[in-house]
Amino acid sequence: MSSPTDKNNAAESTKVSNFLRQVIESDLENGTYASRRWAGSPGDAAHHAAGQPDPAKIRTRFPPEPNGYLHVGHAKSICINFGLARDYGGICHLRFDDTNPEKEDLEYVNSILDAVKWLGFDWNGAPDAPPYQASDYFDFMYRAAEYLIEAGHAYVDEQTAEQMRLARGDFNTPGTDSPFRARTPAENLARFREMRDGRHEDGAMVLRAKIDMASPNINLRDPAIYRIRRATHHNTGDKWCIYPMYTYAHPIEDALEQITHSLCTLEFEDQRPFYDWLLERLIEGGLLASPPPRQYEFARLNLTYVITSKRKLAQLVYDHKVSGWDDPRMPTIVGLRRRGYTPESLQLFAERIGVTKSDSWIDYSTLEGCLREDLENKAHRGMAVLDPVKLVLTNWAEVFGSDDYLEACTQPALPHSALLDGQTPPPDRVFKIGREVWIEREDFEEVPPKGYKRLFPGNVVRLKGGYVIECTGSGAKDAAGRVIEVHAKVIADTKSGTPGADSVKAKAAITWVGVADGVQAEVRLYDRLFVEEQPDAGGKDFIEALNPDSLKVVTAIVEPSLAQAKPDQKFQFERHGYFVADRVDHGVDGKAVFNRAVGLRDSWGK
Ligand code: ATP
Ligand code: MG
Repeated sequence: MSSPTDKNNAAESTKVSNFLRQVIESDLENGTYASRRWAGSPGDAAHHAAGQPDPAKIRTRFPPEPNGYLHVGHAKSICINFGLARDYGGICHLRFDDTNPEKEDLEYVNSILDAVKWLGFDWNGAPDAPPYQASDYFDFMYRAAEYLIEAGHAYVDEQTAEQMRLARGDFNTPGTDSPFRARTPAENLARFREMRDGRHEDGAMVLRAKIDMASPNINLRDPAIYRIRRATHHNTGDKWCIYPMYTYAHPIEDALEQITHSLCTLEFEDQRPFYDWLLERLIEGGLLASPPPRQYEFARLNLTYVITSKRKLAQLVYDHKVSGWDDPRMPTIVGLRRRGYTPESLQLFAERIGVTKSDSWIDYSTLEGCLREDLENKAHRGMAVLDPVKLVLTNWAEVFGSDDYLEACTQPALPHSALLDGQTPPPDRVFKIGREVWIEREDFEEVPPKGYKRLFPGNVVRLKGGYVIECTGSGAKDAAGRVIEVHAKVIADTKSGTPGADSVKAKAAITWVGVADGVQAEVRLYDRLFVEEQPDAGGKDFIEALNPDSLKVVTAIVEPSLAQAKPDQKFQFERHGYFVADRVDHGVDGKAVFNRAVGLRDSWGK
C-alpha cells in the first residue's frame, strides 16, 4: 500500500479529527510532555530521571486483562491507541493487566499477542519486544502504599464489607467515617505489614485511601486500595497475599510507564478524580515522575447483533453454541479473522466509526461494508455453484466434433473496474467448458415467473466467460419430480472475447462451473449469530436470540482457480459474495473448505 491514491488508502482518506487528536495536538503544541525522560524501561521518578529525554512524543497503552479472547470492541481500542501513537510519533505499550491473581492462561496471553500483531501493530517500541506486565510493578505498588500510609493518606479498615458498604452512603447521602479512620500512621503501617505478612484472614481488613467520605463522587469516599487474598499469582507465585485493587493499580502502571494519554472507555469517567488524586500524592512524595499521565474516556463500541462481553462470549463457547473462540460467527478477533476479515477492514472500521464521547450503537452493516470495501480490489474473482444442477449441452458433438471435447476459457482474476491505478492485473483464470456444466438450481425454471431472464425453454443466455446457449427444457427428474438435468444447445462462434461474441443477444449471463474441471468444496454459509439488534439488552437471555440459521453447510462445485486456494485466501465468488478458504480446515485431507465472509450487498432483513 505505497501508492498515495485515494483508492489505495481508504483508511488514510477517511481519517478525521476527533477530540483525542485535538488533545494530543494541543499537548504537542504546548510541550506538555516535552520535559519527560525515559530510562528505557518502566520505573519510578529516580529511574526515569537518570534516563534520556523521551524519544517518544506521546505514550499510549492497551492494557487487556488476559482472561479471554479479544473482540471487535478491543479492536477499536487497539486501533485507537496504536493508531494515535503511530500518527504522532509516539509509542503504544502493550501491558497485561494481571493484577488480579487469576490462574495464568497462556492461551489468552498468546492469543492477545497474535491479535495485536495481526491487526498490524508493534508494541513497546520494537518489533517483538516483550509486553509489559502489571504484576511486575507489585513491589512499587506496595512501596507507594506504605508511603501513602506514612503521609496520612491511607488507613487500614477492619470493618466488614457490609459495614463499609453501609457507611459509604449513596448519591443523596454522604458517607460516615470508619471508626478506624483516625488511626495513626504508625498503627496503620504496622497493621498493613501484618496484612502483607499473612497475619490476617482473607477479607479481614483492607487498606483504604483517606480522601473524603462526603465527596459527591462516591469513588472518592475512601476507596479500598489493597485487599488480602491468598492466591498464587502466575508471575509472582506466593510472594504476595495482598493484592492492589484495579483502581489503585491502573494509574500507577500508567505512570511507571510514562504514559502520556491513558485512553479508556466511558465507564471509567468517575474514576478519573481518584486517578488524578493518587498520582498527585505519589508525585508529591517524589515516587513518580512528573507530569503525570492523563486519562481520557471515549465511547465503547456497541455493535448491533453482536455481544462484546467476554463472559457472555465464553458462555457461547462452553455451552457449545459455537464451535470455539474462533468460530467464524464470533466477534472475537480470531473469529473475525477466520470469517475472512482483514486487518485493513478492521482498521477502516475503527476509522469510520470514529471516536466520540457518547455511547451509541453502530450498525453491523457498517462492519460488513468495510470488509467489502477492502476486498473489492484484493479478492480474486471465481465462479462457484452453491446449489448445483447439471446442464447438458446436447448438441456439443455436432458443434465441436466430439462429446469429450473441452475448451479453455479465460476470465480476469480482477475485473478492470477493480484494479487500482497503476496496478498490474493478476494473471487470468483458466477453466474449461465441455458438454456438461454445473449451474445454480435457481437459474432454471420450467415455467418462468414474470420477468425471469435466466434459463427456461426457448430462452437464450450466456454462460459467463463461455458460450451463448439456448435452453431446450429439462431432462431427467428424480422420484420427487425435481429436475436433475437441464438441457440446452450451444450456439457456435459466440465465445466471450471472440469477434462473434455479440452476434447473438443473450438475455442474461449466468455463472457455471465445468463438470470436467470443477472441484467439490464444502461451503459454510455463515450469517449473523443473533436475530435481535441488541441480544443482551436489559439483562435479556441472549441465548434466546440466537439465529437458528446462522450456519448452513452446502457442497458446492468451484472452478479450478478456487480449488487451488491457500488457507486464509479471500475470493469473490461471482454473484454470491466474498469467501475465504478456511484457515483451519481448508486443505486438510485434500478437502476444499470456504467460509462466506460477507454477501455482495447488504440484504439482511430485507
Ligand atoms: P469485557 O467487558 O469484554 O471483559 P474488558 O473491558 O474487561 O472487556 P479488558 O481486557 O479490560 O476487557 O480491555 C482492554 C481494553 O479494551 C480496555 O482499555 C477497554 O476499555 C477496551 N475495551 C473493551 N471493550 C471495549 C469495547 N466494546 N469498545 C471499546 N473498547 C473496549
Ligand atoms: Mg476489564
